Amino acid sequence: MLLIWGLRVFYHTIGQGTFHCRKCGGDRQYRHRAGRRFFTLFFIPVIPLNRTGEHVQCLTCKTRYVTEVLKVPTTVQMQVALAAGMRAIVAIILRAGDPASPLSRRRALDTVTGAGDKDYDEYALEADLAGPADRARVKIGAFGAQLQIEAREWCLAEAIRIAMADGPLTGAERAAAEHLAAALGMTQAQAVGVIALTEQNVLARPRLSGWYAHSRYVARAAPP
Ligand SMILES: [Zn+2]
Repeated sequence: MLLIWGLRVFYHTIGQGTFHCRKCGGDRQYRHRAGRRFFTLFFIPVIPLNRTGEHVQCLTCKTRYVTEVLKVPTTVQMQVALAAGMRAIVAIILRAGDPASPLSRRRALDTVTGAGDKDYDEYALEADLAGPADRARVKIGAFGAQLQIEAREWCLAEAIRIAMADGPLTGAERAAAEHLAAALGMTQAQAVGVIALTEQNVLARPRLSGWYAHSRYVARAAPP
């Protein structure tokens, strides 16, 4: 009798969920699989041998990844983190200036809704301003660690535009911006560069700056 025997790896699924697939360029379903080598007889697994490791497979493009890929945040997780991080940033920069300034508050609301938190309003802003500042700082640190340098710079620039919505940066606002930069994981040189560049941009494009437009309006409305 002819015996046909061999060795073959069989996989079974040990988990599934959503992850960020680099190949597809978006959030996709995956299956997390573990393999084991079997001694086969007539192509049937008979004797289990060693484990051969695990992988994560995209169910859309079938690409296999090492399991570390599950540590990469999904697009949805990044959006949630971005909105939460921007809320914390907004609260810190507003507290450093005049938290009651309508121009700065308007700009702050636009920034957070633009970051994905569509329902963010005056009430939510008020609640954030009443929250403890040190917790906001921790949130910003965790958030900044996930960002590329350009994204950190963008967040800091947004904070500076909020602070400048009602006038030039005050000393306290500048200090808060420097602290924000450090919490985001930027060096002091990067922080100084972004602050200077954003100030220049706001001053060079006065129509985009609320306070300048407002002061011009006041000047025009004033009797000659
Ligand atoms: Zn894929």
